[in-house]
Amino acid sequence: MRAYRGWQRDSHDMYSMTMTKKALIIGGGVAGPVTAMALQRAGIDSVVFEAYGRGSDGVGAFLTLAVNGLEALDVLDLKDTVCDLGMDTPAMKLISGGKELATVAMPARTVARTDLYEKLHDEAVRRGISIEYGRCLDNAEATPTGMRAMFTDGTTAEGDLLIGADGLRSRTRTIIDPNAPRARHIGLLNTGGYARGLHLPGEPGVAHFVFGRRCFFGYFIHPNSEIWWFANPPSRREPTREELLAITSERWRARLVDLFRDDTGPMLDIIAATDDIFPGWNTYDFPTVPTWHNQRMVIVRDAVHATSPSSGQGASMAIEDAIMLAKCLRDIPDTAATFASFKKLRRERVERVVKHGKRSGDGKTQGRFGATIRDMVLPMIMRKMVTSNSLSWMYDYRIDWPALVVGAR
Ligand SMILES: Cc1cc2nc3c(=O)[nH]c(=O)nc-3n(C[C@H](O)[C@H](O)[C@H](O)COP(=O)(O)OP(=O)(O)OC[C@H]3O[C@@H](n4cnc5c(N)ncnc54)[C@H](O)[C@@H]3O)c2cc1C
Repeated sequence: MRAYRGWQRDSHDMYSMTMTKKALIIGGGVAGPVTAMALQRAGIDSVVFEAYGRGSDGVGAFLTLAVNGLEALDVLDLKDTVCDLGMDTPAMKLISGGKELATVAMPARTVARTDLYEKLHDEAVRRGISIEYGRCLDNAEATPTGMRAMFTDGTTAEGDLLIGADGLRSRTRTIIDPNAPRARHIGLLNTGGYARGLHLPGEPGVAHFVFGRRCFFGYFIHPNSEIWWFANPPSRREPTREELLAITSERWRARLVDLFRDDTGPMLDIIAATDDIFPGWNTYDFPTVPTWHNQRMVIVRDAVHATSPSSGQGASMAIEDAIMLAKCLRDIPDTAATFASFKKLRRERVERVVKHGKRSGDGKTQGRFGATIRDMVLPMIMRKMVTSNSLSWMYDYRIDWPALVVGAR
């Protein structure tokens, strides 16, 4: 049921014409709750449906919210809330053969993935948004006035439109386009952990990225002296989820000790000081997904443009998507036209981030010859990157919330 609200004055002194709409949001990761909060700003109601229970997705180490993601959170007054979590990451230091190749300023916040999820859920609920757990989307169909979502438990929900924020294996993506591409496996596994009781030298929060001979390793010294770390063992073959879950913490430990046995650096000490090593997971990306939407359904973030974590943009792109989609829905009355504008406004940027993440990931798995070349050229590349500010397209991007979407009226 839609009610025309007419011209409204919003908190940014803008006048916008809004219809009361109800969105069904599938997925309660990062994109889902943030989209719900952004839609609320745009005067659109929504309900988030999450397949699993609250907090049940404990997998995943920590992620970095880049400055563009933090500024996007600020649009929704969420930046300070999220910045209570984790640690400031002022710079990244690239290290190879025990030597520092380069240090580059990289203002960001590094947060545990589960803490971020919790915080976003709490904040969404505090703002009056409903999140329903244990509701796994099975199918969806158009009704004369909107969309009906059908869940695996036999329940249904109706709204004006449906937003698939249901991650890499998005069901919404295949409902929109049964021939949609599968995510690309990019030959790196992920694992990591939290080490305690070590006192490593180094500035707290700085991302230390070590190009080992056989494996890439990253670590951050938390101000409380914990070491947050991850490793990316290369794997040409795509192990199944079951195979990965079957690798115990002790098997990971043995494998990682072997991978880093000839490297200089604190990796073996960090691994030894970690009680539980994370279950591993694969790395995927989507170079391009042709169909993002139909008349009443659209997909966002990992469902349509997952990037390698090497981009450092996993959650930041989810937040940007959420705000841009809400802006389009606020300014463009026709839903299909809204989704087309959203795709137009986002596609080039997100595909560029995917490419950047892939390139960064490839640098982690060089052979001996490639590694020698990399160690020679990387300092120059990093210097050039700093002097020419060549990543400004990624980090300096800001969404102007009050401004009307171009072509909206
Ligand atoms: C296991 C794992 C570990 C990760 N670790 C890191 C990391 O260390 N660093 C990093 O930068 N990025 C990491 N990422 C990626 C990062 O979390 C995402 O890029 C970011 O959260 C934005 O994704 P999203 O909200 O689109 O998807 P997600 O955060 O994956 O959320 C999707 C949600 O949809 C739910 N869902 C799926 N299918 C359905 C359905 N049919 N019905 C209802 N709900 C459904 C899922 O349960 C999930 O909660 C990880 C991702 C995963 C899956």
